[in-house]
Amino acid sequence: MPGDIIAWGEGDGEKVPLLSVDDGKIETQFDWEQWKQFILLESYTRQTAPFYARLPFHYHYVPERVRSLALKFLLALNKNKGTQPTDFPGHPIEQGFELLHYLYCNNGGTASWESSVSGQIFLTHDIDTRGGFEWALKTAAREKKYGFRSLWNVVGNLYKIDYDALDELRKDGFEIGLHGYNHDNKDAFLSEDALRKRFDRCKPLIERYGMKSYRSPSWLRTPMLFDVLKDYISTDFSRLDSDILCPGGQGGCLWTKGFEYGGLLQIPSTVPYEYPLFVGYKPDQLLNFWTPKLKWLRKINGNIVVNTHPDTGYSGNQAMLDSYEQLLIYLNDN
Ligand SMILES: [Zn+2]
Repeated sequence: MPGDIIAWGEGDGEKVPLLSVDDGKIETQFDWEQWKQFILLESYTRQTAPFYARLPFHYHYVPERVRSLALKFLLALNKNKGTQPTDFPGHPIEQGFELLHYLYCNNGGTASWESSVSGQIFLTHDIDTRGGFEWALKTAAREKKYGFRSLWNVVGNLYKIDYDALDELRKDGFEIGLHGYNHDNKDAFLSEDALRKRFDRCKPLIERYGMKSYRSPSWLRTPMLFDVLKDYISTDFSRLDSDILCPGGQGGCLWTKGFEYGGLLQIPSTVPYEYPLFVGYKPDQLLNFWTPKLKWLRKINGNIVVNTHPDTGYSGNQAMLDSYEQLLIYLNDN
Protein backbone atom coordinates (compact mmCIF):
# COMPACT_ATOMS: atom_id res chain seq x y z
CA MET A 1 0.00 0.00 0.00
CA PRO A 2 1.37 3.44 -0.89
CA GLY A 3 1.50 6.38 1.53
CA ASP A 4 1.51 6.52 5.32
CA ILE A 5 -0.07 3.49 6.92
CA ILE A 6 -2.52 4.56 9.63
CA ALA A 7 -4.05 1.19 10.60
CA TRP A 8 -2.63 -2.31 10.78
CA GLY A 9 -4.42 -5.59 11.17
CA GLU A 10 -3.06 -8.88 12.38
CA GLY A 11 -3.92 -12.34 11.14
CA ASP A 12 -2.07 -15.68 11.44
CA GLY A 13 0.75 -13.86 13.23
CA GLU A 14 1.28 -11.53 10.29
CA LYS A 15 0.78 -7.79 10.26
CA VAL A 16 -1.32 -6.50 7.39
CA PRO A 17 -1.64 -2.82 6.45
CA LEU A 18 -5.34 -1.91 6.39
CA LEU A 19 -5.56 1.85 5.80
CA SER A 20 -3.07 4.38 4.48
CA VAL A 21 -3.11 8.02 3.46
CA ASP A 22 -1.34 8.93 0.23
CA ASP A 23 -1.17 12.54 -0.85
CA GLY A 24 -4.18 13.35 1.34
CA LYS A 25 -6.21 10.49 -0.10
CA ILE A 26 -7.35 7.45 1.88
CA GLU A 27 -6.34 4.03 0.52
CA THR A 28 -7.75 0.74 1.77
CA GLN A 29 -6.36 -2.79 1.58
CA PHE A 30 -9.76 -4.12 0.54
CA ASP A 31 -12.67 -2.58 -1.32
CA TRP A 32 -14.25 -0.54 1.48
CA GLU A 33 -17.90 -1.10 0.57
CA GLN A 34 -17.47 -4.87 0.15
CA TRP A 35 -15.45 -5.00 3.33
CA LYS A 36 -18.07 -3.15 5.32
CA GLN A 37 -20.88 -5.31 3.95
CA PHE A 38 -18.88 -8.44 4.74
CA ILE A 39 -18.61 -7.37 8.38
CA LEU A 40 -22.05 -5.85 8.97
CA LEU A 41 -23.80 -8.87 7.47
CA GLU A 42 -21.49 -11.14 9.49
CA SER A 43 -20.37 -13.02 6.38
CA TYR A 44 -17.14 -13.90 8.17
CA THR A 45 -19.03 -16.37 10.34
CA ARG A 46 -21.78 -18.87 9.80
CA GLN A 47 -24.32 -19.92 12.38
CA THR A 48 -25.31 -23.54 12.68
CA ALA A 49 -28.50 -24.86 14.24
CA PRO A 50 -27.83 -25.64 17.92
CA PHE A 51 -28.29 -29.30 18.87
CA TYR A 52 -31.55 -28.69 20.70
CA ALA A 53 -33.09 -27.17 17.57
CA ARG A 54 -32.76 -30.68 16.13
CA LEU A 55 -34.66 -32.37 18.95
CA PRO A 56 -37.93 -34.04 17.94
CA PHE A 57 -39.68 -32.14 20.76
CA HIS A 58 -39.66 -28.48 21.80
CA TYR A 59 -36.53 -27.79 23.84
CA HIS A 60 -38.59 -25.91 26.44
CA TYR A 61 -39.55 -29.37 27.75
CA VAL A 62 -36.01 -29.45 29.11
CA PRO A 63 -36.35 -27.83 32.57
CA GLU A 64 -35.19 -24.20 32.72
CA ARG A 65 -32.62 -24.97 35.43
CA VAL A 66 -31.00 -27.55 33.18
CA ARG A 67 -30.99 -25.12 30.22
CA SER A 68 -29.50 -22.41 32.37
CA LEU A 69 -26.75 -24.79 33.54
CA ALA A 70 -26.12 -25.76 29.92
CA LEU A 71 -25.69 -22.07 29.01
CA LYS A 72 -23.21 -21.57 31.86
CA PHE A 73 -21.34 -24.67 30.69
CA LEU A 74 -21.22 -23.37 27.10
CA LEU A 75 -19.88 -19.98 28.22
CA ALA A 76 -17.26 -21.67 30.45
CA LEU A 77 -16.26 -23.96 27.57
CA ASN A 78 -15.76 -20.97 25.28
CA LYS A 79 -13.70 -19.29 27.97
CA ASN A 80 -11.44 -22.32 28.32
CA LYS A 81 -11.01 -22.45 24.57
CA GLY A 82 -9.64 -18.93 24.85
CA THR A 83 -12.39 -17.51 22.66
CA GLN A 84 -13.40 -15.03 25.34
CA PRO A 85 -13.02 -12.49 26.67
CA THR A 86 -9.64 -11.52 25.17
CA ASP A 87 -10.06 -13.15 21.77
CA PHE A 88 -12.32 -12.08 18.99
CA PRO A 89 -14.93 -10.71 19.35
CA GLY A 90 -14.02 -8.54 22.32
CA HIS A 91 -16.81 -8.57 24.87
CA PRO A 92 -18.62 -6.56 25.97
CA ILE A 93 -16.75 -4.03 23.80
CA GLU A 94 -15.41 -4.93 20.35
CA GLN A 95 -14.07 -1.72 18.94
CA GLY A 96 -11.92 -2.83 15.99
CA PHE A 97 -14.31 -2.03 13.19
CA GLU A 98 -15.70 1.11 14.85
CA LEU A 99 -12.11 2.43 15.08
CA LEU A 100 -11.35 1.53 11.51
CA HIS A 101 -14.50 3.24 10.33
CA TYR A 102 -13.65 6.33 12.36
CA LEU A 103 -10.17 6.50 10.82
CA TYR A 104 -11.54 5.93 7.33
CA CYS A 105 -14.13 8.73 7.61
CA ASN A 106 -11.73 11.13 9.33
CA ASN A 107 -9.23 10.80 6.52
CA GLY A 108 -11.55 11.66 3.70
CA GLY A 109 -13.35 8.34 3.20
CA THR A 110 -17.01 8.72 2.38
CA ALA A 111 -19.35 7.24 4.94
CA SER A 112 -22.10 5.16 3.46
CA TRP A 113 -24.73 2.96 5.08
CA GLU A 114 -24.98 5.64 7.72
CA SER A 115 -28.41 5.81 9.22
CA SER A 116 -30.16 8.39 11.30
CA VAL A 117 -30.56 5.71 13.95
CA SER A 118 -27.58 6.37 16.19
CA GLY A 119 -26.99 7.70 19.68
CA GLN A 120 -30.42 6.49 20.80
CA ILE A 121 -31.70 4.36 23.66
CA PHE A 122 -33.85 1.31 22.90
CA LEU A 123 -35.17 -0.74 25.81
CA THR A 124 -36.27 -4.11 24.49
CA HIS A 125 -37.59 -7.26 26.16
CA ASP A 126 -38.33 -10.75 24.92
CA ILE A 127 -41.21 -12.52 26.66
CA ASP A 128 -40.21 -16.20 26.55
CA THR A 129 -42.87 -17.66 28.85
CA ARG A 130 -46.48 -17.03 29.88
CA GLY A 131 -45.22 -16.15 33.38
CA GLY A 132 -43.26 -13.27 31.87
CA PHE A 133 -46.37 -11.11 31.34
CA GLU A 134 -46.81 -10.40 35.03
CA TRP A 135 -43.25 -9.09 35.35
CA ALA A 136 -43.55 -7.29 32.03
CA LEU A 137 -46.19 -5.01 33.55
CA LYS A 138 -44.10 -4.43 36.70
CA THR A 139 -41.03 -3.63 34.57
CA ALA A 140 -43.01 -1.34 32.29
CA ALA A 141 -44.28 0.57 35.34
CA ARG A 142 -40.66 1.29 36.38
CA GLU A 143 -39.86 2.44 32.85
CA LYS A 144 -42.84 4.78 32.87
CA LYS A 145 -41.69 6.25 36.15
CA TYR A 146 -38.54 7.52 34.38
CA GLY A 147 -40.28 8.51 31.17
CA PHE A 148 -39.17 5.52 29.07
CA ARG A 149 -41.23 3.45 26.67
CA SER A 150 -39.92 0.06 25.56
CA LEU A 151 -40.44 -2.71 23.06
CA TRP A 152 -42.03 -5.99 24.21
CA ASN A 153 -41.44 -8.93 21.87
CA VAL A 154 -43.87 -11.84 22.15
CA VAL A 155 -43.60 -15.37 20.75
CA GLY A 156 -46.33 -15.88 18.15
CA ASN A 157 -47.37 -19.44 18.92
CA LEU A 158 -45.89 -20.88 22.11
CA TYR A 159 -47.90 -19.91 25.17
CA LYS A 160 -51.30 -18.42 25.90
CA ILE A 161 -50.72 -14.76 25.08
CA ASP A 162 -51.93 -12.32 27.71
CA TYR A 163 -53.76 -9.93 25.40
CA ASP A 164 -54.95 -7.78 28.31
CA ALA A 165 -51.35 -7.14 29.34
CA LEU A 166 -50.31 -6.35 25.75
CA ASP A 167 -53.34 -4.07 25.24
CA GLU A 168 -52.43 -2.20 28.41
CA LEU A 169 -48.82 -1.80 27.31
CA ARG A 170 -49.90 -0.60 23.88
CA LYS A 171 -52.34 1.89 25.42
CA ASP A 172 -49.49 3.28 27.53
CA GLY A 173 -47.36 3.92 24.44
CA PHE A 174 -45.19 0.79 24.54
CA GLU A 175 -44.44 -1.08 21.33
CA ILE A 176 -45.21 -4.76 20.76
CA GLY A 177 -42.93 -6.82 18.52
CA LEU A 178 -42.50 -10.42 17.44
CA HIS A 179 -40.08 -12.91 18.99
CA GLY A 180 -40.29 -15.80 16.55
CA TYR A 181 -42.99 -18.34 15.85
CA ASN A 182 -42.69 -20.82 18.74
CA HIS A 183 -39.13 -20.36 20.04
CA ASP A 184 -38.04 -23.84 18.99
CA ASN A 185 -34.95 -22.16 17.51
CA LYS A 186 -35.65 -23.65 14.08
CA ASP A 187 -36.97 -20.52 12.29
CA ALA A 188 -33.61 -19.43 10.86
CA PHE A 189 -32.80 -22.87 9.50
CA LEU A 190 -36.09 -23.83 7.84
CA SER A 191 -36.78 -23.74 4.12
CA GLU A 192 -38.00 -20.35 2.96
CA ASP A 193 -41.49 -21.75 2.33
CA ALA A 194 -41.74 -23.30 5.77
CA LEU A 195 -40.65 -20.07 7.42
CA ARG A 196 -43.18 -18.04 5.42
CA LYS A 197 -45.92 -20.40 6.59
CA ARG A 198 -44.90 -19.75 10.19
CA PHE A 199 -44.86 -15.98 9.74
CA ASP A 200 -48.20 -16.11 7.90
CA ARG A 201 -49.70 -17.73 10.98
CA CYS A 202 -48.37 -14.80 13.04
CA LYS A 203 -50.03 -12.25 10.76
CA PRO A 204 -53.17 -11.68 12.88
CA LEU A 205 -50.92 -10.87 15.86
CA ILE A 206 -48.65 -8.66 13.73
CA GLU A 207 -51.69 -6.75 12.51
CA ARG A 208 -53.44 -6.53 15.87
CA TYR A 209 -50.49 -4.70 17.43
CA GLY A 210 -49.13 -3.00 14.31
CA MET A 211 -45.85 -4.85 14.91
CA LYS A 212 -42.87 -3.31 13.18
CA SER A 213 -40.04 -4.97 15.10
CA TYR A 214 -38.56 -8.43 15.42
CA ARG A 215 -35.97 -10.27 17.44
CA SER A 216 -35.04 -13.81 16.59
CA PRO A 217 -35.23 -16.37 19.43
CA SER A 218 -31.78 -17.10 20.91
CA TRP A 219 -30.25 -14.54 18.49
CA LEU A 220 -30.25 -17.14 15.69
CA ARG A 221 -29.99 -15.45 12.32
CA THR A 222 -29.33 -16.41 8.72
CA PRO A 223 -29.50 -14.47 5.42
CA MET A 224 -32.67 -16.43 4.57
CA LEU A 225 -34.36 -15.31 7.79
CA PHE A 226 -33.70 -11.63 7.02
CA ASP A 227 -34.82 -12.08 3.45
CA VAL A 228 -38.22 -13.45 4.52
CA LEU A 229 -38.57 -11.12 7.49
CA LYS A 230 -38.62 -7.96 5.38
CA ASP A 231 -42.03 -8.97 3.98
CA TYR A 232 -43.58 -8.92 7.46
CA ILE A 233 -41.84 -6.29 9.59
CA SER A 234 -39.51 -3.33 9.03
CA THR A 235 -37.02 -3.29 11.92
CA ASP A 236 -34.84 -6.09 13.21
CA PHE A 237 -33.03 -6.39 16.54
CA SER A 238 -31.60 -9.91 16.04
CA ARG A 239 -27.95 -8.96 15.57
CA LEU A 240 -25.58 -8.16 18.41
CA ASP A 241 -22.56 -5.91 17.94
CA SER A 242 -20.43 -8.47 19.82
CA ASP A 243 -22.02 -11.87 20.07
CA ILE A 244 -20.75 -14.50 22.49
CA LEU A 245 -24.28 -15.56 23.44
CA CYS A 246 -25.88 -17.17 20.42
CA PRO A 247 -25.87 -20.98 20.63
CA GLY A 248 -25.41 -21.05 16.83
CA GLY A 249 -21.89 -19.60 17.08
CA GLN A 250 -20.01 -16.46 18.08
CA GLY A 251 -19.79 -13.39 15.89
CA GLY A 252 -21.54 -10.05 15.76
CA CYS A 253 -21.78 -7.22 13.26
CA LEU A 254 -19.15 -5.17 15.17
CA TRP A 255 -21.30 -2.10 14.66
CA THR A 256 -23.38 -0.09 17.13
CA LYS A 257 -25.52 2.08 14.86
CA GLY A 258 -28.57 1.17 12.86
CA PHE A 259 -28.12 0.34 9.18
CA GLU A 260 -30.44 -0.39 6.33
CA TYR A 261 -29.93 -3.46 4.23
CA GLY A 262 -32.13 -5.74 2.17
CA GLY A 263 -35.31 -3.82 2.91
CA LEU A 264 -34.84 -3.91 6.69
CA LEU A 265 -33.65 -1.40 9.26
CA GLN A 266 -31.24 -3.41 11.37
CA ILE A 267 -30.50 -2.16 14.86
CA PRO A 268 -27.76 -4.19 16.57
CA SER A 269 -28.36 -5.02 20.24
CA THR A 270 -25.50 -3.73 22.36
CA VAL A 271 -26.46 -4.34 26.01
CA PRO A 272 -27.73 -7.89 26.68
CA TYR A 273 -28.18 -6.81 30.28
CA GLU A 274 -28.59 -10.25 31.90
CA TYR A 275 -25.51 -11.88 30.35
CA PRO A 276 -23.17 -11.30 33.35
CA LEU A 277 -25.54 -13.35 35.57
CA PHE A 278 -24.37 -16.43 33.70
CA VAL A 279 -20.71 -15.78 34.42
CA GLY A 280 -21.05 -15.22 38.15
CA TYR A 281 -22.24 -11.62 38.59
CA LYS A 282 -25.07 -10.74 40.97
CA PRO A 283 -28.04 -8.53 40.00
CA ASP A 284 -26.69 -5.57 41.98
CA GLN A 285 -23.37 -5.77 40.09
CA LEU A 286 -24.82 -5.54 36.59
CA LEU A 287 -24.83 -1.76 36.23
CA ASN A 288 -21.14 -1.67 37.20
CA PHE A 289 -20.40 -4.37 34.65
CA TRP A 290 -22.08 -2.41 31.86
CA THR A 291 -21.04 1.13 32.76
CA PRO A 292 -17.80 1.14 30.68
CA LYS A 293 -19.74 0.02 27.64
CA LEU A 294 -22.55 2.52 28.22
CA LYS A 295 -19.94 5.30 28.37
CA TRP A 296 -18.20 4.01 25.24
CA LEU A 297 -21.49 3.84 23.32
CA ARG A 298 -22.23 7.44 24.29
CA LYS A 299 -18.77 8.53 23.11
CA ILE A 300 -18.99 6.90 19.70
CA ASN A 301 -22.65 7.84 19.23
CA GLY A 302 -23.68 4.18 19.17
CA ASN A 303 -27.13 3.01 20.18
CA ILE A 304 -27.76 1.73 23.69
CA VAL A 305 -29.97 -1.25 22.86
CA VAL A 306 -30.82 -3.05 26.09
CA ASN A 307 -32.28 -6.54 26.07
CA THR A 308 -33.89 -8.34 29.02
CA HIS A 309 -36.45 -11.09 29.60
CA PRO A 310 -39.29 -10.68 32.13
CA ASP A 311 -39.30 -14.43 32.76
CA THR A 312 -38.54 -15.78 36.24
CA GLY A 313 -35.15 -17.31 35.36
CA TYR A 314 -33.95 -13.95 34.04
CA SER A 315 -35.34 -10.54 35.03
CA GLY A 316 -38.71 -11.65 36.42
CA ASN A 317 -37.82 -11.28 40.10
CA GLN A 318 -37.46 -8.50 42.63
CA ALA A 319 -33.63 -8.42 42.70
CA MET A 320 -33.46 -7.99 38.91
CA LEU A 321 -36.29 -5.44 38.86
CA ASP A 322 -34.28 -3.33 41.33
CA SER A 323 -31.12 -3.84 39.26
CA TYR A 324 -32.95 -2.76 36.12
CA GLU A 325 -34.25 0.34 37.88
CA GLN A 326 -30.62 1.28 38.65
CA LEU A 327 -29.94 1.09 34.92
CA LEU A 328 -32.97 3.29 34.17
CA ILE A 329 -31.76 5.88 36.67
CA TYR A 330 -28.29 5.81 35.10
CA LEU A 331 -29.73 6.24 31.59
CA ASN A 332 -31.89 9.10 32.81
CA ASP A 333 -28.90 10.90 34.33
CA ASN A 334 -26.22 10.25 31.70
ZN1 LIG B 1 -36.26 -15.72 23.69
